[in-house]
Amino acid sequence: MKIACLAGDGIGPEIMVEAKKVLDALSLDIEVADADVGGTAYKKHGHPLPPETLELCKASDAVLFGAVGDPDCDNLERHLRPEQAILGLRQALTLFANLRPATMFPGLEDMSALRPEVASQIDLLIVRELNGDVYFGEKAIRTLDDGRRQGYDFMSYAEDEVRRIAHVAFRAAQGRKKLLCSVDKANVLETSQLWRDVVIEVSGEYPDVTLSHMYVDNAAMQLVRNPGQFDVVVTGNLFGDILSDQASMCVGSIGLLASASLGERQTDHGTFGLYEPIHGSAPDIAGQGKANPMAMILSLAMLLRHSLGLEAEAAKVEAAVAKALEDGVRGGDLGGSAGTSEVGDAVVARL
Ligand code: NAD
Repeated sequence: MKIACLAGDGIGPEIMVEAKKVLDALSLDIEVADADVGGTAYKKHGHPLPPETLELCKASDAVLFGAVGDPDCDNLERHLRPEQAILGLRQALTLFANLRPATMFPGLEDMSALRPEVASQIDLLIVRELNGDVYFGEKAIRTLDDGRRQGYDFMSYAEDEVRRIAHVAFRAAQGRKKLLCSVDKANVLETSQLWRDVVIEVSGEYPDVTLSHMYVDNAAMQLVRNPGQFDVVVTGNLFGDILSDQASMCVGSIGLLASASLGERQTDHGTFGLYEPIHGSAPDIAGQGKANPMAMILSLAMLLRHSLGLEAEAAKVEAAVAKALEDGVRGGDLGGSAGTSEVGDAVVARL
């Protein structure tokens, strides 16, 4: 088993060190290789995603990604900016399924924007399609015959695009509470009607999973009214973009939220994917030893689960993070004073 570690910019390298400590503590037979990405890569190699970095990712079972973004690079041409690396990786590695768990850790209910008794129920996973939808359709601003300007974006999903994300979501639900809610806008959009039809077709292959459907406007309401009703939510690129951010903030701090972007390629033990915290490079605290590495460590847990088939080890890492939080280990983002390496050590101690 081989993983590529792309630490990136800002706090990326600091939090990556802590994730590697956790990996070492598990004593697994995994080859780890590092490569440059983002502003760091631009400064060394002239490009935020050098060919050798991409080759390493392709030759690995999974990619562990820190964060990219460097204020020094803000004035570069768009294609050379650090953030382009993540878009390039998504495209080159056909990462089409974005998985974002949102789980309320006991004791952190007060961090949520919701009432504690509502927030304490949150344990859900949003599966968002990443390669299609209105973001990738034909788009332009044109001038109509009468001189008015008109903007348009073509929304579409082909059935195979819906089918492959539906399979990811059903499989994820099988590993959880076996409830899948498909979110669409089928009362108004033909794209959504096809989405719903295909999800229902695929459901025939997963008789153990209970499928429900919800319109996106209702889903947005239910996520804050009664988030505990959701287990796995599957939705398209546009709706998922919004709902996954909404779900994140229902949980609380940005320093605790991990994500996975899965590709089509199957590895010997799971599915190829890229794993990263949802936060950015946090230049305001970079180099100060203040960053919370928990989101990075939880991203490693997702990597172990989805790409390496190491469910027991993934669960152990998640439990160690939960135990550290329960014991009061809090980074600055959670109102505490524990530094980056202190948090990492606390998680390792509980492993
Ligand atoms: P950010 O997520 O980097 O930071 C937002 C705020 O949260 C900051 O105050 C930061 O200090 C804090 N924060 C973030 N992660 C933290 C952690 N682990 N522990 C403690 N505090 C944490 O968002 P931003 O400031 O808008 O963006 C900074 C840079 O990151 C930009 O260049 C942006 O483009 C980039 N970015 C990259 C990614 C990515 O790599 N996938 C995602 C988002 C933003």
